[in-house]
Amino acid sequence: MKTIRFLIKLLFPAVCPICGEVCGQNITEDDARICPACEKRVRRVTQPFCMRCGKPLGPGGARSEYCEDCRKHTHAFVQGRAVFVYGGAVARAMHGMKYKNRRDYAAVFAREAYETLGGWIRHIQPQALVPVPLHPRRRRTRGYNQAQLLAAELSGLTGIPVECGLIRRNENTRPQKELNVDERKNNLKNAFQMSKNSVHLMKVLVIDDIYTTGSTADAVAKTLQEAGIEKVYVLSICIGGDDQGGLDYGSKNL
Ligand SMILES: [Zn+2]
Ligand SMILES: [Zn+2]
Repeated sequence: MKTIRFLIKLLFPAVCPICGEVCGQNITEDDARICPACEKRVRRVTQPFCMRCGKPLGPGGARSEYCEDCRKHTHAFVQGRAVFVYGGAVARAMHGMKYKNRRDYAAVFAREAYETLGGWIRHIQPQALVPVPLHPRRRRTRGYNQAQLLAAELSGLTGIPVECGLIRRNENTRPQKELNVDERKNNLKNAFQMSKNSVHLMKVLVIDDIYTTGSTADAVAKTLQEAGIEKVYVLSICIGGDDQGGLDYGSKNL
């Protein structure tokens, strides 16, 4: 089994999703990462960030614990964290992972998430990882759900099981990217539904690729809470910044 894995790695070594080059010198289990040369092309979420949603705070933001959005609205989830600020090279890599069949990027982004947020995950101790389900139509045409790939990789790193079949997206919702902010919220009201009736989980971590307005995370969290799950946390690979007015919502293709 080890030999087969080694051969696969030799033939298809992990590449950096930012520059497309093979990662590192050694073909080992942990060679999947953004290469050091590409660090300057990505923006990581650093302090100060919003204590509720994890968005980096804009100028003067250090004076508040919460971003503008979280000061105005409450969220259904307890806390969210993210690794990268959405935009530029990392946005292109996300696009590749979602639409261009670069499923291999999920391993790199999951490892980045684990290295950045592993301590936080251990602290909150979720009983399961719950990937945000894709719209069924999208799932059929794409053939995979990027959030599910990320959750599976993170599960391998943390040992926390993935609960894929816990929640599903209703067929009759429209893709979010076709809608404005108000329509999105409405569209998401009954967008998710539990697939299992009896849930014995108290605390879960929802996994998504991009956090934009938080409406998807809230809709998922609400559905999970209605099923009796008390605490819902959210981990996203990318997030918009409080200082980033022109978030490219268009590429959040649900
Ligand atoms: Zn690179
Ligand atoms: Zn916030």
